[in-house]
Amino acid sequence: MTRRCPSCRAKLPASGRCPGLAPLIEHEGRLWGIAAQLAHALGGDVTERMIRNYANRDDLPRWEYRRSVYFALEDAAPIEGAKRRSGRGRRRQLDAGLVAAA
Ligand SMILES: [Zn+2]
Repeated sequence: MTRRCPSCRAKLPASGRCPGLAPLIEHEGRLWGIAAQLAHALGGDVTERMIRNYANRDDLPRWEYRRSVYFALEDAAPIEGAKRRSGRGRRRQLDAGLVAAA
């Protein structure tokens, strides 16, 4: 059975440590992380794919650095909050952790 992170549901590597736990990077006064890190930070049912969609469709800032793409955490939180409240799309879990992240 594949173990999954209890926060973000990502599949865990053999080490058992979620890839989303890597430290965020500070850049131009904001904290940035790869999609897995933001999915972990926002918790609940947020997936890496959703983070990428926010960048493509909802103007979530992205930053390419050392061949990785980073996304701005503090910009992702309000986008995620608005999606969750909109009632459109698939049914969403409620997650108090999001409020703390926003
Ligand atoms: Zn995680």
